[in-house]
Amino acid sequence: MNYSFRKKNKKVKYIVIHYTGMICFDRAFSKLNNLSSDVSCHYLISKSGLIFNLLCPSFKAWHAGKSQWKNLKNLNDYSVGIELENKGHDHGYKNFSSNQYSSLKELIAFLNKNFRIQHQNIIFHSDISPNRKRDPGEKFIIYKAGISRFKNNTPYKIKYSILDLLKIYGFSDFYLKKYKSDCIMAVKRTLNYREINNKIDNKFKLDFYNLLFK
Ligand SMILES: [Zn+2]
Repeated sequence: MNYSFRKKNKKVKYIVIHYTGMICFDRAFSKLNNLSSDVSCHYLISKSGLIFNLLCPSFKAWHAGKSQWKNLKNLNDYSVGIELENKGHDHGYKNFSSNQYSSLKELIAFLNKNFRIQHQNIIFHSDISPNRKRDPGEKFIIYKAGISRFKNNTPYKIKYSILDLLKIYGFSDFYLKKYKSDCIMAVKRTLNYREINNKIDNKFKLDFYNLLFK
């Protein structure tokens, strides 16, 4: 299994949620445990809701790849990676099961207690690598996992531009500058839109406001 040691000045603060994006559970399981795969994660939750603890969160797993969030780079340094079994967009993207949601809820409660990870720091792979990644995707429904992520302290202003809202959401300046369209699509996934595109209309603006401030 791939892992590294965490540096003392880089504390675990985030949970990054993924889907496996593989045809079956066995393949995902062996990839995540294979040294030559260059990837790994801390937890894997099967469709039936079984939680596999593959690596202790006090070690660094290799799940996020090139990534940024707010002013941080390389989120592996700061996060626990959770993979949810799902074939993903390339192999027949399916709804996540209710067993997966309830197991994820339990796991989040455990991580919250033991590593003090706050709900607002539960983020998606598509948030931190919007130009490369689509997981967990538009079929992942945050309230089903009991995640209250968007309670933030930013004051509500009616005049925020889309760029302001994307910044409040948490995208890094680099992604906003180079991949703004991808950032918009990542937000649409979080909003569980069926159609993912970079179009900005009034409905999207309203939904985005409600996501951040309601
Ligand atoms: Zn991922």
